[in-house]
Amino acid sequence: MIELKSNREIELMKHAGHINFLTHEEVRKNIRVGISTKALNDIAHKFILKSGCEPSFLGFEGYPASICISVNDEVVHGIPSKRKLKLGDVVSVDIGVCYKGYHSDSANTYIIGNAPKEVENLVQNTKESLYKGLSVIKDGVKISDIGREIENFAKSKKLGVVRELVGHGVGRSIHEDPDVPNYYTKDNTKLKSGMVIAVEPMLTLGSRQIYMEEDEWTIKTEDGLPSAHFEHTVLVTKDGFVILTGE
Ligand code: MG
Ligand code: MG
Repeated sequence: MIELKSNREIELMKHAGHINFLTHEEVRKNIRVGISTKALNDIAHKFILKSGCEPSFLGFEGYPASICISVNDEVVHGIPSKRKLKLGDVVSVDIGVCYKGYHSDSANTYIIGNAPKEVENLVQNTKESLYKGLSVIKDGVKISDIGREIENFAKSKKLGVVRELVGHGVGRSIHEDPDVPNYYTKDNTKLKSGMVIAVEPMLTLGSRQIYMEEDEWTIKTEDGLPSAHFEHTVLVTKDGFVILTGE
């Protein structure tokens, strides 16, 4: 069932989204060659707690860390570890923040230093695909139109679209109905004012095929090529949308 949020709930989610944005800023300031993904996790964890919130992902379905950090061929759900970041790494950081029982979900991808042009383009175009998807959002639009925008844009840039993982509703749970795929489907479900959804394209430089690592969390590209991931939690309004996890 798709829940519409009350004004009170939207205020709480705006706060959860704002702290999510600030947590990303903390990670961004500290991300560099030689830092371990565990150290970044700990910086985010402390910041979220200090802000009076909770990390949504810690313990979610048994997930063992506060945020997800997925490097290079890791698409999503990478578990922070002693792994140290290297020059040219493509690093996706996914953060969930919960405030008074309400969640927010947002992801960014960074390149450490610089990378080959095609990898820079992958990251830039994945970010752009998120905004293409968001651009159609308003009351009455079909959810599948979001995926169509993302898929068409990705295709025009010759990038793969991961299909096994999709965006989702957000609220009292980090994952709620509806699904928000990053590709076109024949689903006729419409967006309604008061819905809060996370849109999160995961694009790949090569094939869209993925597999799960032995840790039963980390999702990787089958061909070993890099992928990128961007995500915002947004409120659907009558005339458009409001990004809750932005500045
Ligand atoms: Mg996320
Ligand atoms: Mg999400």
